[in-house]
Amino acid sequence: MAEKLEANHTATVKIFGTAGAARGYAIRDFLTRGDVPFEWIELSNNQQARAIGLETVSDRRLPVCVFSDGTRLECPTVRQIAEALGWYRDPSRAEYDLAIYGAGPAGLSAAVYGASEGLRTVLIERYIVGGQAGTSSKIENYLGFPRGIRGADLAEAGREQACRFGAEILMLREGVRGEFQPGKGTGYLKDGTKIVAHATVCATGVTYRRLNLPDEDRFLGVGVYYGAGASEASLCRGNEHVYVVGGGNSAGQAVMHFSRYAPKVTMVIRGVGLKETLSQYLVDRILNAPNVEVSPHTDVTALHGDGFLRAISLTNNQTHQETTVDTRWLFLCLGGVPHTDWAVEAGVARDTDAYILTGPDLLEAGKYPKNWPLERAPYYLETNIPGLFAAGDVRHGSVKRCAAAVGEGAMAVTFVHRYLANS
Ligand SMILES: Cc1cc2nc3c(=O)[nH]c(=O)nc-3n(C[C@H](O)[C@H](O)[C@H](O)COP(=O)(O)OP(=O)(O)OC[C@H]3O[C@@H](n4cnc5c(N)ncnc54)[C@H](O)[C@@H]3O)c2cc1C
Repeated sequence: MAEKLEANHTATVKIFGTAGAARGYAIRDFLTRGDVPFEWIELSNNQQARAIGLETVSDRRLPVCVFSDGTRLECPTVRQIAEALGWYRDPSRAEYDLAIYGAGPAGLSAAVYGASEGLRTVLIERYIVGGQAGTSSKIENYLGFPRGIRGADLAEAGREQACRFGAEILMLREGVRGEFQPGKGTGYLKDGTKIVAHATVCATGVTYRRLNLPDEDRFLGVGVYYGAGASEASLCRGNEHVYVVGGGNSAGQAVMHFSRYAPKVTMVIRGVGLKETLSQYLVDRILNAPNVEVSPHTDVTALHGDGFLRAISLTNNQTHQETTVDTRWLFLCLGGVPHTDWAVEAGVARDTDAYILTGPDLLEAGKYPKNWPLERAPYYLETNIPGLFAAGDVRHGSVKRCAAAVGEGAMAVTFVHRYLANS
């Protein structure tokens, strides 16, 4: 049998697949972020494929997932994996006290506080719990974890805690539209499901920026990855040169994480140096890591390959000189744009960068917007629509930290109580 790249004797799922297959990456990413133990078994010849009942190593039924209860799924979608794990559910109620959109730190925190304080709470997540934090290999500045905590572990603990208090979590469901009347918000999900709640918290965070290069979609999962690639780092062993694009803390963390596996890691940044954008502790670690180099004033300008990424072009944005380097691993940590498209139609006020305005930030020349219908001022985390709150990274002026998102999620629930008591 093939080399077991991530030997894991408590594996809940065994995944048999071939190197560089996008579906294999999607499944590994989902399971890593869901904190589900798995064993990735890479097949390299037909004999190995036949051992699991397939014809050849290029069989379209790959990857094959075998669960500990014997369930076997061939070339499953992420949704089918979620169903096999019992994670894909329908809402149990026709109406809730509180609906939360987004299960990152802010949404999970709102779910824990909402449910523990007696609100019938539903948490809707378009992918899997954890949000950006769930993709972090190690969060080192979250209170109470002096040696840091893996983002997926923090997310799983939050999920368990929210469920224990009775919050209902609907994963792989995306809110796409909202209608808000006094005391009643209706959220429409992409799959046609309708969620009715007396109050709503938007904690949809941000989505990663892209390079916007031709072929970026084609290479997604087969050489190009968004975020810190927590599920992929251990595959970068051997003779691999990893490129991480971005100059923020998430990029810095990713670089240090990959440097434990790959012989060489290059951090590609547009600016002159790291000091303006990175925490000092990360600057120190990066500059002291023998297998890490920083490439300043550099843009990624082209992606090359066939089925997989094989090389990238880098252009110096001062001299305009272009070089092409071989690599199979390009990780993009470019920061995010807020996920608020749905807010336009609902009439939710946003700033020029599309972040949601709340509380005092709604003031225009000392006055609340014309469409604010109540005598009282909006609560601190309330949007211009009474009963609709925003928390975490999606909110204008938020500090883009895990602890802050968790704090805002909890705080939003306090205002939800006030809103419900007065409406
Ligand atoms: C790699 C990385 C490392 C980081 N490391 C640190 C660190 O060390 N310390 C620190 O303090 N901060 C860190 N951060 C930042 C921190 O993770 C974020 O500030 C935090 O996750 C924000 O939480 P949030 O809940 O507001 O939003 P997010 O984490 O962005 O979560 C939003 C969630 O909403 C979901 N969603 C979006 N739209 C919809 C929709 N329409 N319907 C349903 N769901 C939707 C998304 O899928 C996502 O799960 C890091 C970020 C990254 C990317």
